Amino acid sequence: MSWLAEFDTRLEELDAAHLTRTRRVVVPETGARLTVNGRSMLAFCSNDYLGLANHPALKAAVHEAVDRYGVGAGSSPMVSGFSAANAALEDELAGFVQLPRALYFYAGYATNASIVPALVGPGDAIFSDALNHACLIDGARLSKASIHRFDHADLAALDRQLAASPATRKLLISDAVFSMDGDVADIAALHALAQAHDALLLLDDAHGFGLLGPQGRGALAAAGLTGAQASPRVLYMATLGKALGVAGAFVAGPDRLVEWLLQKTRSYTYATAAPALLAESLRAALRVVGSGEGDERRAHLAALIARLRRGLAPGSEAGIDAAGWRLMPSSTAIQPLVIGSNADALRVMAGLQEAGLWVPAIRPPTVPAGTARLRIALSAAHSAADVDTLARTLQVLARGAAGP
Ligand SMILES: *Cc1c(COP(=O)(O)O)cnc(C)c1O
Repeated sequence: MSWLAEFDTRLEELDAAHLTRTRRVVVPETGARLTVNGRSMLAFCSNDYLGLANHPALKAAVHEAVDRYGVGAGSSPMVSGFSAANAALEDELAGFVQLPRALYFYAGYATNASIVPALVGPGDAIFSDALNHACLIDGARLSKASIHRFDHADLAALDRQLAASPATRKLLISDAVFSMDGDVADIAALHALAQAHDALLLLDDAHGFGLLGPQGRGALAAAGLTGAQASPRVLYMATLGKALGVAGAFVAGPDRLVEWLLQKTRSYTYATAAPALLAESLRAALRVVGSGEGDERRAHLAALIARLRRGLAPGSEAGIDAAGWRLMPSSTAIQPLVIGSNADALRVMAGLQEAGLWVPAIRPPTVPAGTARLRIALSAAHSAADVDTLARTLQVLARGAAGP
């Protein structure tokens, strides 16, 4: 029998382990509401942290750009795809994050999967936090450098690994805000270790850009390593489909390093450039993020984060702890509630869904086995009442799960 028949069995095994993933067809409504498979739901699953994906200024920028540039970019940025809009965006991104130069990519996954192999290769060494995003891990594998994984945020272990490595070229890679835990990396300490061991530090700030630091300039700015304090050994990468509300990514840092990435990153050279209409909407998004309106949106989000954490505090009426659930210690918009088993996490997700709330259950391999969780993502598009509804519904479900 052909091996192709195995796919039936494999799919059945996924299903038996509660690991089948399903997509839902959504249409945005107003605020954080979505029509999901035809039903109106209050959603806590979007990374549109500032609520910009539906912002009138971003939409207007797209309309104007379509009239001027048309729709598709037509080719790689190395051929004729580097529009005036994309060039202006790169300059503005570099200015915003206060680093010498930026390179704009069509997607974050493709950026990390491809810049890591452009920086290091066989015989070189990569040091990678155990909770790094899949695209950093895939980039490390593609590079064929040796990979040293350290336990999440265990900087003493990292120090030992760096000291023990005979490699001359050492690349340290880390999420700046961890996507499934919501905690922020100790960037100053990572940078100090990079300095001590002559390593290059690559930071992925997908969940901090637009949110952390003064005016939302990102986790590197928050750590004081931009502008006059910019380091020659840091590459800063961030995505543009989350807080910026659009799509794409960029990498920024020292001019010669960015020039090297421009020359050698295969997903940059061999992929069609992002359309100018996206670059123009991103330029509009940057203006909002850096403005007083951006500050207001960040302040509103911070208040919602505090409100949810109060509502789910252990020992409170919530009974979250009695059910054996654990709200992780996060100060960012990512507020994970660890449930435990895959089946239990799916049950809680289903209970919320019945109440009209959509919070995704995240299961292995995205998170370690036994730590299946609800990944609650808050956004400036939520209201205080939305957050109260979520906390109240979770309390009811927790009391049910804890039993009499
Ligand atoms: C979302 C994400 C990416 C991928 O970015 P896309 O633009 O969505 O491809 C990369 N890194 C991290 C940490 C992310 O959360």
